[in-house]
Amino acid sequence: MTDLAQSQSFYDVARKVRRKLGQFLGQPQIGDIWPSGVISFTFDDFPKTAFTQGGAILERHGARGTYYTASKLVGTVGDLGTLFDMEDLRAAHRGGHEIACHTYSHLRCSEADEPALVSEVRSNAAGISAIIEGHVPRNFAFPYGATSPTARHVLKRYYASCRGIQPGINRKIPDTAELYAYSVYAGTFDEARMRALIDQNKILSGWLIFYTHDVTEAPSPYGCTPQQWEAVVSYAARTSPVLPVRDVIAALGVKSPRLP
Ligand SMILES: [Zn+2]
Repeated sequence: MTDLAQSQSFYDVARKVRRKLGQFLGQPQIGDIWPSGVISFTFDDFPKTAFTQGGAILERHGARGTYYTASKLVGTVGDLGTLFDMEDLRAAHRGGHEIACHTYSHLRCSEADEPALVSEVRSNAAGISAIIEGHVPRNFAFPYGATSPTARHVLKRYYASCRGIQPGINRKIPDTAELYAYSVYAGTFDEARMRALIDQNKILSGWLIFYTHDVTEAPSPYGCTPQQWEAVVSYAARTSPVLPVRDVIAALGVKSPRLP
């Protein structure tokens, strides 16, 4: 067995133990609160169009999203186009969207040691609270989905949840050390598959999380078009409650850990 397979199987066991422990402690399960499941829409990085296009589509359906923000990237331009600026961040927050954490510098957490991870947590909290007075992110997504046992262990101290990019539906008492999520990317977009996932989530009384980056007519390989985003959001909103990660976590009674 390779080291990776060994750590994966250990991790699978840890997930099961955590879930059983939660059941034993009487934590509410997703299906107790949302019998037809719940759905979250999230954006990583975040490009300006994630808010101007993606956020506007969510709002038209009465929903709000979660923006995983690396505050060092404010006002920069990269492969995903123009990223958020300070006013985008404030407007998204004012509009009821969640501003969450994606490290300060978009760090590949799988290659970082504990001091580097803690430094990123602190820098991003300081960076975001300087733009939105007093706001400290309570949920996290791993840049590149790259994680490690050390990263999961350290970051769980500071965030109520950490989202990865492993596909899957979060069930019962979800593993908040690495939440499952599905991408919505133009190159692999299949509306029938998206609808099937939403239907399956409803049957399972699960928590389905989607993520993308830019939402624009000519998206990067990591984004989608407004029409594709609209198709997923509108079907989701007709099927299940749509809530930011923050609201699902709060309803499940997951404690917000200490401030960095
Ligand atoms: Zn990212």
